[in-house]
Amino acid sequence: MYYREIAALRFWTFVDQSQSCWIWKGAKTSTGYGLFIAEAKKGQKHQRVLAHRYAWSLANDQEISFKHHLHHTCGNRLCVNPTHLELTTVSKHRGLHAKAYCKRGHLKPGKRCKECNKMMTKIWWQRIGNARRKEKRQLERQG
Ligand SMILES: [Zn+2]
Ligand SMILES: [Zn+2]
Ligand SMILES: [Zn+2]
Repeated sequence: MYYREIAALRFWTFVDQSQSCWIWKGAKTSTGYGLFIAEAKKGQKHQRVLAHRYAWSLANDQEISFKHHLHHTCGNRLCVNPTHLELTTVSKHRGLHAKAYCKRGHLKPGKRCKECNKMMTKIWWQRIGNARRKEKRQLERQG
């Protein structure tokens, strides 16, 4: 067997394929992506690669240049299912994320962020509650 194939076999032992998103179970980067450390050939350094990039390369038999990113169409950074990954240029990818994520970093499928909306509604109700309590205290003081 070739070195590449041995590394590939080891790679898939870290992947849970029981659902549509194939979840990486190995090491993670600080940004929440899967990290695969491919064993080195003799005399070479270990290769640290992002798991989803590795998976895509294997599936498409194609290297990814540093000018390209893979976008997770499922929004799941730990997913390594190649069909959930879209090859895109770095600049296009940044644009995509500016649109796909709100300023607080929630994934938003529509124009407005549902998560932020929920949060704002909660804050709003808290304010109304506080105002009511204050009003009640004042009324009580007046007797
Ligand atoms: Zn996925
Ligand atoms: Zn992306
Ligand atoms: Zn948000």
